[in-house]
Amino acid sequence: MFKKILIANRGEIALRVQRACREMGIKAVMVYSEADRDAKYVRLADEAVCIGPASSTHSYLNMPAIISAAEVTDAEAIHPGYGFLSENADFAERVERSGFTFIGPTPESIRLMGDKVSAKQAMIRAGVPCVPGSEGALPDDPVVIKRTAKAVGYPVIIKAAGGGGGRGMRVVHTEAALLHAVQTTKAEAGAAFGNPEVYMEKFLQNPRHIEIQILADTHRNAVYLGERDCSMQRRHQKVIEEAPAPGIPRRLIEKIGDRCATACKKIGYRGAGTFEFLYENGEFYFIEMNTRVQVEHPVTEWISGVDIVRTQIAVAAGEKLPFTQRQIQLRGHAIECRINAEDPYKFTPSPGRITTWHAPGGPGVRVDSHAYTNYFVPPNYDSMIGKIIVHGDTREQALARMRTALAETVIEGIKTNIPLHRELMVDANFVTGGTNIHYLEEWLSQRDR
Ligand code: ADP
Repeated sequence: MFKKILIANRGEIALRVQRACREMGIKAVMVYSEADRDAKYVRLADEAVCIGPASSTHSYLNMPAIISAAEVTDAEAIHPGYGFLSENADFAERVERSGFTFIGPTPESIRLMGDKVSAKQAMIRAGVPCVPGSEGALPDDPVVIKRTAKAVGYPVIIKAAGGGGGRGMRVVHTEAALLHAVQTTKAEAGAAFGNPEVYMEKFLQNPRHIEIQILADTHRNAVYLGERDCSMQRRHQKVIEEAPAPGIPRRLIEKIGDRCATACKKIGYRGAGTFEFLYENGEFYFIEMNTRVQVEHPVTEWISGVDIVRTQIAVAAGEKLPFTQRQIQLRGHAIECRINAEDPYKFTPSPGRITTWHAPGGPGVRVDSHAYTNYFVPPNYDSMIGKIIVHGDTREQALARMRTALAETVIEGIKTNIPLHRELMVDANFVTGGTNIHYLEEWLSQRDR
């Protein structure tokens, strides 16, 4: 096992990985920007190295600075967390070329999955169901583009091969609008992602976002840890996640989960990963794979009893998965609310000093956050400052525990979206379960009227 790991991230996920290291008896090196200098998880780390100014381009995205930090501290491996460089194949390659272990899949897997066209083709070959659409990237020929759209059936969505973060997509309802939409998306994709390739999919009208968590080792073992429902989104950003997904028959989950685990073996995948699907009328449609740990991993940890971060580290060190698929038993129900430093009505960021931080507790409550009383939320990064996760024997119990947890939480000095979560936890449709990906935005627009 590694003796020392460098954590190339910040905030709650940096602290999450640090905790896993502590538990495993591994020393953790934190890298930090000038804006994070005073954070407790940096101060309390075994070692900490400043890698640059507040701007992430010059710190958390600064590959040479991070690799030098690993060199000077004699770290053996680098954990990238999520966001920043976690899905950057060039970074993974540079880490490995510099003699360190990248705690994640191979650069080849990251590259394969990072290009949505190649990812989709690999999934089709591996027997994972995908949204019907163009075979690969769209050609330039307008006749072929029109013919493809007709065959797929309107409405269609034009998506950038290199897209991410909900950007680089355009829905088209009629043939009249088609060619212009393709041209515009191509131009935008070229400028934003350095890759003008686009592809076409059928636009699903009312899907749910269901994802499958997988773990794979370097000995050709792969398991899935059930699903998560992340349909409660605003602007393609997840707000609430839960596991299992309400109302989806277990046999469907088992079938798709099995396909995902098999696909991992076929592509030689290692580490943690998530297959994201749209789910509509009893069918799953693959949209993309995330080759890293996700923000919402705790809900799966809780129902499966598997420590995902610990397992990531273990398989990166060459260990075998300590369980088989049969040994994975899912129990109860877990819900996560993302706590953002933002206005709960206008969604404008609300960085600044937290004057009071009182976290909830009690049975079935977990808080993953690097924040505390007197912590200063820097304006330079994502507004998420933590997560409240609850578990119950049933979904009803989990909901009740989340309501209690949110009622106990006191955060003063900055605005947070806690009031929004309090309202959603008593919303009749959310309480029933099974809302689609448009539900939260529709609910928000009703609230504004
Ligand atoms: P990104 O990597 O930018 O997050 P995704 O491919 O995961 O892109 O898609 C993001 C979101 O866009 C999905 O969660 C869904 O809301 C919407 N979307 C993508 N493809 C389709 C589709 N074929 N039909 C309907 N909605 C889609």
